[in-house]
Amino acid sequence: MELRLYDTLSREKRAFVPLDAKHVRMYVCGPTVYDFAHIGNARPVIVFDVLFRLLRHLYGEAHVKYVRNITDVDDKINDRAARDFPGLPLNEAIRKVTELTGKQFHADVDALGALRPSVEPRATEHIGEMREIIERLIAGGFAYAAEDHVLFSPQAMNAANSTLPRYGALSKRSLDEMIAGARVDVAPYKKDATDFVLWKPSKPGEPSWPSPAGIKAEGRPGWHIECSAMAWKHLGEQFDIHGGGIDLVFPHHENEVAQTCCAFHQQRMANYWMHNGFLQVESEKMSKSLGNFITIRELLADWPGEVLRLNMLKTHYTSPIDWTMKSLEESAKTLNDWYRFAADVAPSKPAASVVDALLDDLNTPLAIAALHGLRNSSDAVGLSASLRLLGFLSESVAQWEGRKRQASGVDAGEIDRLIAERTAARARKDFKESDRIRDELAAKGVVIKDGKNSDGKPVTTWEFA
Ligand code: AMP
Ligand code: ZN
Repeated sequence: MELRLYDTLSREKRAFVPLDAKHVRMYVCGPTVYDFAHIGNARPVIVFDVLFRLLRHLYGEAHVKYVRNITDVDDKINDRAARDFPGLPLNEAIRKVTELTGKQFHADVDALGALRPSVEPRATEHIGEMREIIERLIAGGFAYAAEDHVLFSPQAMNAANSTLPRYGALSKRSLDEMIAGARVDVAPYKKDATDFVLWKPSKPGEPSWPSPAGIKAEGRPGWHIECSAMAWKHLGEQFDIHGGGIDLVFPHHENEVAQTCCAFHQQRMANYWMHNGFLQVESEKMSKSLGNFITIRELLADWPGEVLRLNMLKTHYTSPIDWTMKSLEESAKTLNDWYRFAADVAPSKPAASVVDALLDDLNTPLAIAALHGLRNSSDAVGLSASLRLLGFLSESVAQWEGRKRQASGVDAGEIDRLIAERTAARARKDFKESDRIRDELAAKGVVIKDGKNSDGKPVTTWEFA
């Protein structure tokens, strides 16, 4: 089977053919580092990590380059820095905020089992590339300077008689309708209401860099140009896959396409545009602004990262997820069982049923059904390898159980001692005593289960009721 991916631009699932067969290139928009990431932000991280792992499996680890940026210049960062470090010069405070938040982000997504991308470029280290793209856009007649700003003109792009894509093609919006629906109180430096900012002046004390377009005052980049610059620097003028959450399609990705294609006279920026759906709470998008969010960090206090990961992958990445406690509890149960059955088994090749499901536009719910199938047919070797392909089983059973016990605050040694006593009682057929011990454990909230391990030997496992 071949890999097929749904492309937001062409609105179809297509066979994946990399531009360069030996060098697959993927860009995913990363976090703006000003605060703890919430579990909604974890969705693109986990979804594109699964894709990264699958591509590495198909093309070889050395043949896949995954770039996920860090946005470290933004108003929200400035506000946070002024609030948290009022005694420091703003630029120093900003550095503190971005360093601290970047570290938190890494610790969180590491715990979710996400591999680090091949490159994690920071926006502030690519100002030169941004200036260069802006100069090219001005030279091509797609952008202009006004009142210390540089603006991109979608109307100039669509008026160009060329092989450029149409502005609005990715988000399926018509520029004419955007013009008609534009707000009246447009910023005075814009020629047209639909023009968007490439560069803007910095306020005193804010981070600033020498401006392009002969502007004397120092300034800073707009958000969209950052990704065009970092993708160009690390992946070239055209690459294979561009990803992010569905909320980024417009305006962020539409504007990235416009900038990159007009600067480099390309018909496309990426060949496949992939967007994950929202993680929701009670049918509403989880977001900072709605206040209905829970951070990855808070969830990690109660659940192993792999439980959060499994819970995320139970839904296909294009569909919305309703994030519930009940579903988390089920995911934890499933993973406990898989750990005991397969974690200490040497893996071989992942099962074809699992790989095939992933090849079909990352059908993770189908892949998880296939994992259950492997468990039901007692294929511990296949289950072990398949779980590893999906980024699970990073721990041994002993580590996994140990962590669970630690988290519960129950004396694990005591439980193990009681289970050993019960096993001895059963061996001498003292069922009265073995039942008494079972009840004693139940009173502690511990449920035991007699079963067999993958070698057929009897084992007693336990979990909290
Ligand atoms: P932001 O920090 O808001 O720019 O978001 C970072 C990434 O998380 C982007 O790819 C967003 O599309 C994605 N994202 C934000 N909120 C959610 C959500 N509730 N569900 C899924 N993805 C989200
Ligand atoms: Zn981006």
